[in-house]
Amino acid sequence: MVTISGLLLVISGPSGVGKSTIIEHMLVSGLAECECVFSVSMTTRLPRQGEIEGINYHFVSRDRFLFAIEHNELLEYAEFAGQFYGTPEEPIREAMAKGQCVILDIESHGMLQVRERAPDAVTVFVTPPDWDELRKRLRGRGTENEELIEARLEISRVDYDNKVLYDHIIVNTEIDEAAAQLAEIINKRRRLNYA
Ligand code: ADP
Ligand code: 5GP
Repeated sequence: MVTISGLLLVISGPSGVGKSTIIEHMLVSGLAECECVFSVSMTTRLPRQGEIEGINYHFVSRDRFLFAIEHNELLEYAEFAGQFYGTPEEPIREAMAKGQCVILDIESHGMLQVRERAPDAVTVFVTPPDWDELRKRLRGRGTENEELIEARLEISRVDYDNKVLYDHIIVNTEIDEAAAQLAEIINKRRRLNYA
């Protein structure tokens, strides 16, 4: 995949660490010096309360997802907690051609596939200040039952070692600070690209 004009930024981290919150905060803050867009993934999981089709995700059936895989619609995909998640490739191509920064909130198997296809992609892993805080945030979000929370924490523990594979690590203690760090990573890379 060609990434000459735009920037592809992958952000991963444990479920509930605050990835969506950081991205949202950065997008509305205007801290990034370029136009940033969020890559809307396709998923087979059900929408959470407040999530909007086409904004947070494209919520699809398993058959539709398998069709997307078969017809090479996805830049990458993975299974997480029994559901499929994948990144539609066409919108990314369009955004990159416009020189935009495209932000992908995806897990680490997906990150490795993106890196394979787009070696210029910038990768960021978000960690919690500690595991108790992560559990508290997952519970506080109120979107999963205890069983699902434990399943997500278990995946996160396994996935945590993959943080060494990333270009940058952000510890999400204060949301303002984490969003500013994300913007700074984007701004630095843009300046390098245009230097
Ligand atoms: P993720 O996208 O990584 O799964 P979310 O962005 O949904 O996580 O955040 C999970 C919960 O943690 C949300 O209720 C959010 O408001 C909260 N949260 C995010 N960042 C912080 C922070 N720095 N301090 C306290 N709570 C936070
Ligand atoms: P959630 O169900 O909490 O929205 O997301 C669960 C996990 O799936 C998170 O780690 C998130 O980063 C990841 N994810 C979301 N979309 C994609 C995607 O398109 N591809 C991959 N590989 N992971 C995704």
